[in-house]
Amino acid sequence: MTSTHIAAGIADRYSNRIVLTTYPNQSVANPIPLQWGESNPEERGPVIVSRSKNNLSKRNAIGAHGGSYAIYTALAIASGQLDADFRPNFLNTQPTFNFPAQAAWGDKKKIVAMDPFGHAIVRYYRRHLEEGVDVRPTIAVTRATMRVSEISEAINIGRLPIDGSIVLNKQGDVKVTKVAVEPVWYLPGVAERFGVDETLLRRALFEHTGGNYPELITRPDMKVFLPPIGGLTVYIFGDPERVSDPNVRLALRVHDECNGSDVFQSDICTCRPYLVFGIEEAIKEAQNGGSGVVIYFRKEGRALGEVVKYLVYNSRKRGGDTADKYFQRTENIAGTKDMRFQALMPDILHWLGITKVDRMLSMSNMKYDAIVEQGIPIHERVPIPDELIPEDSRVEIDAKIHSGYFSAGKQPTEQDLKEVKGRGWESWEDVTH
Ligand SMILES: [Zn+2]
Repeated sequence: MTSTHIAAGIADRYSNRIVLTTYPNQSVANPIPLQWGESNPEERGPVIVSRSKNNLSKRNAIGAHGGSYAIYTALAIASGQLDADFRPNFLNTQPTFNFPAQAAWGDKKKIVAMDPFGHAIVRYYRRHLEEGVDVRPTIAVTRATMRVSEISEAINIGRLPIDGSIVLNKQGDVKVTKVAVEPVWYLPGVAERFGVDETLLRRALFEHTGGNYPELITRPDMKVFLPPIGGLTVYIFGDPERVSDPNVRLALRVHDECNGSDVFQSDICTCRPYLVFGIEEAIKEAQNGGSGVVIYFRKEGRALGEVVKYLVYNSRKRGGDTADKYFQRTENIAGTKDMRFQALMPDILHWLGITKVDRMLSMSNMKYDAIVEQGIPIHERVPIPDELIPEDSRVEIDAKIHSGYFSAGKQPTEQDLKEVKGRGWESWEDVTH
């Protein structure tokens, strides 16, 4: 391809000049008002990030829709498979369940990491859509039937009854309402949760995304940022109406992604067993007239990613995999033992209208503290049953209990941890031929 062809290609896609950044009070900076924390969606205003010709000046938020998938949108447009000015047709996409509005939707202290009106933009912002403003949903609500092999087995051996409305049959089909949420950050609120200055947060976000969002620096008037990270999915068992009912018992599992275990059933950690235990307990609670919720966050490998995770696995297996050195192995490579930072996690509980948790299916002290700090009491914490802990994952679970994870059993001592060893690589060749 000649350079003339390339130049023609760019002109085809983008007829306007490149706008590297904007400053307040420019003609390209005339944002539609966005009053985060307003309980009336009209007064709050829609979140606009589109940089298309007719939206550039109206933007009131930094970033892009789709989290990390924004990059695929860019590829689709660059390769000519998607029109840069494409607008979605939202016919029939509305939620399968209308979650009742909560006081927290209009509280800028309680919801800072998602758009409380992101599920119903067609309803709230029809006028803007009709005027050509590119408003997009950041939440979608649907329903489905799911089948998980361990749940099918629990049904087969009679541990879970077939009730015909939640557990449908002996094959293990279970009815579920699902809510997908993309992150939308109100930067002053996020800064406050982490106890840092907003200007410092903006600088760090700018620097450590390769300088990708200069408006973090040049547009202090824009307070909302759609970060290029994964979101979350809520799985609700039983009537979604019951989730926010304070008179109904609630079982909750908050789970952070671990693809190797969750999907591929690696036995080095307790992730899938705990997730499936959470699903089973959530179903049980719903069958007993309560409500069961499982929330799945895309925070692979403690939000360090799978590459770092596998490096840690190697250093553990080659360096003597004992529980006393478990966290140190991660710290050596990542500089910290965990980047999941649960401070923003409780937003989804506020959005759902959860005001207390009867049974928390998690041992994490970080999740517990984050939820309780947000004023949501947890009445009971339920550890993973011993028989569900894979042998090779004892290193992880014992190290976590020693570091503060909740456990009903005995606390391992420093000496105990030295004796908890993971499986070695003895039967593996460590060299490729
Ligand atoms: Zn795991």
